[in-house]
Amino acid sequence: MLLVLLIIWLWQRQRFTKKLAETDTLTGAMNRRAMYTWINKLMPVNTSMCICLIDLDHFKKINDTYGHGTGDEVLETFSTIVQNRIRKTDRLCRFGGEEFLLVLNTVDKIEAQALLDEIRVTFEAHNQWNSTSFIFSASFSAGVIQLTGTAELDAVISQCDNLLYLAKGNGRAKTESSLFCAA
Ligand code: GH3
Ligand code: MG
Ligand code: MG
Repeated sequence: MLLVLLIIWLWQRQRFTKKLAETDTLTGAMNRRAMYTWINKLMPVNTSMCICLIDLDHFKKINDTYGHGTGDEVLETFSTIVQNRIRKTDRLCRFGGEEFLLVLNTVDKIEAQALLDEIRVTFEAHNQWNSTSFIFSASFSAGVIQLTGTAELDAVISQCDNLLYLAKGNGRAKTESSLFCAA
């Protein structure tokens, strides 16, 4: 009996340590390394998925105007809204700074666009913050690539980045999407 309890405890501790090593501490989203591992495992068995590179708009201005603590709260809030909206089979990762990578399983680019639009409405409606009495809202832009089968992940993300750049140039708070184009 004691041995069984010890094995369960060790197993739970190992799971907890693994989860901690894969998680971004500020936002609770996956970290980039864990996301790369997860996507590369998923690609060969998935028929179609969407990879969405998301970047918060004018985030530097939020930091400069309201302080870094409030900037952090905006990042946490964005992550919570997305994680509450996506399915168990999808994943959100903090790609770096104010950039996130969202992977949507068995979804085409039209469905991904619609989901991001919904998330955008919820995020933009959030205008009250714990760390400041100022009322303001934030927005994001996104570049979405629909992928079928396997591909070099860096090439996919580079195409997401080009679309994100387009969304920024088209006035921000927008999503641009395309099919993956193999070189
Ligand atoms: P754009 O709409 O073109 O994306 O402009 P931007 O201001 O969002 O982009 P820019 O790259 O100029 O600024 C990003 C800022 O994000 C700069 C950096 O200080 C801030 N940042 C990065 N990581 C964190 C973080 O963990 N917390 C906070 N508060 N700020 C962060
Ligand atoms: Mg950025
Ligand atoms: Mg930004």
